[in-house]
Amino acid sequence: MIENEIKNLLNDLKAQGAEYADIRYHTLDLHEQIHLQDGLMKNYNFQDKKGYGVRVLYKGAWGFFSNEDPKLLKETADIAMRKAQSASLFLQNSVKLAPKDIYKERFSSNIGEDPFQVNLKDKIELLSKINESLKHERFTFRGANASFNKRTILYFDTEGAEIEKHTLEVNPYMYAYAKDKDGLTQSRSYLMYQNTTPDASVGLENIRDEKQFFGHPERIKNELLQVLDAPIQEEEICSLIPGHEMMALQTHETIGHALELDRILGYELSYAGGSHVDLDDFGKLNFGSNKLNAHASGTTLNSPGSVGFDDDGVKGLDVLMIEKGKLKNCITSRQMITEANEKAGREIFSESGGACRAQSYNNLPIERMNNINIDSGDDGTLEDIISNTENGLMLETPKSWSIGSNRENFHFACEIGWKILDGKISHVVRNPTYKGDSLKFWHSLDMVGDSSTWQLQQVFNCGKGQPNQIMHLAHGIPTCRFDSIEVGNK
Ligand SMILES: [Zn+2]
Repeated sequence: MIENEIKNLLNDLKAQGAEYADIRYHTLDLHEQIHLQDGLMKNYNFQDKKGYGVRVLYKGAWGFFSNEDPKLLKETADIAMRKAQSASLFLQNSVKLAPKDIYKERFSSNIGEDPFQVNLKDKIELLSKINESLKHERFTFRGANASFNKRTILYFDTEGAEIEKHTLEVNPYMYAYAKDKDGLTQSRSYLMYQNTTPDASVGLENIRDEKQFFGHPERIKNELLQVLDAPIQEEEICSLIPGHEMMALQTHETIGHALELDRILGYELSYAGGSHVDLDDFGKLNFGSNKLNAHASGTTLNSPGSVGFDDDGVKGLDVLMIEKGKLKNCITSRQMITEANEKAGREIFSESGGACRAQSYNNLPIERMNNINIDSGDDGTLEDIISNTENGLMLETPKSWSIGSNRENFHFACEIGWKILDGKISHVVRNPTYKGDSLKFWHSLDMVGDSSTWQLQQVFNCGKGQPNQIMHLAHGIPTCRFDSIEVGNK
């Protein structure tokens, strides 16, 4: 039994003086991607990335090593131990892990129709139908892509945690490109959202679902045709209603990345930048208007950001980061909260937020977003918000984005915009962009839609760390309106 071997090894590491050690074994790590373009297979990829990583803490220093071969478990653990021992000779700051509750538990996504049990031909047929529906004589190309990830991870540590995780992710999107009336390239695309009702599941049924995915090609096609002949968005200051895909990007870049504790402590400076937030801001800073309530949640149903337990073995929990606009907490792990509390000279963080994850068995876990969600409000439905908007712009789907290195400002371009005049959608606009200063922007949040507008957007391309790790997560967001935003076309 591999479990017994792992437990014995952890006891050995402890006997050799390890303060802490864990072994994370990906016994199954399947990835499949199917990409059809213009009715032909553009890309197909299948991988099983099995393996294990051993992390050892010795005299305040980490050592990590990973391997694929189960016969080399002991040798791998020995190397991780030796790395920790050598690192401990050159330490600047000792790593201390905050306490955690110990679990012996099994977690599983709510798995529906498992794509790995379905014939490849059937999956290709499903995507072909989407591809066919997107066809139009004015389009230069169109496509449909789906990726599936299925994992079984065993996690054991020297504190007694024994965790088994089974997760499934389904990530489809569709797109079409065409030249507009001025010869410029325009696109419309659509990323599937995830259904979070308790009876919903994760599986191929999500792709077949009309609302989630299968019913969208006709809309995408019609919207692109409208963009091609639409007037250019003029530069102006007006109310802004970002669609769910834009709100996901906005939340991701200006709340999520700004509130990663390792970034706040300076650990990402040489790569992905810092944060305008510092330790003094917790409990004091007004991050946004009093309509803003934001969470880092590990418990959102059917989300790639909910994996039961993080890679520190901390059970997923829901952390209220911003309450009525006030900054209270952030995205945390066992290691970083101890360091932050020490640096601040006060207890800002009482427990790990369970947000430490590794991309794969061969990466060291770091602080990652789980589900950065915004609470719904009491300003009604999308229709109510539009009918209360005198001069506004509704925008959807990121086309390009740039963000200040401390997440202090941003500039986003979108695939499509709808001009709102006197409470009604007036017409489609081309090349819409908007920009702002992060804090000022969240302070201008003046309407938040009710629960009927709340939707979980999946994100499968979040990059962080050196070496870079790509993480999967989600953003649960309602329809929001922002007052007096600078919009334009560049
Ligand atoms: Zn990211």
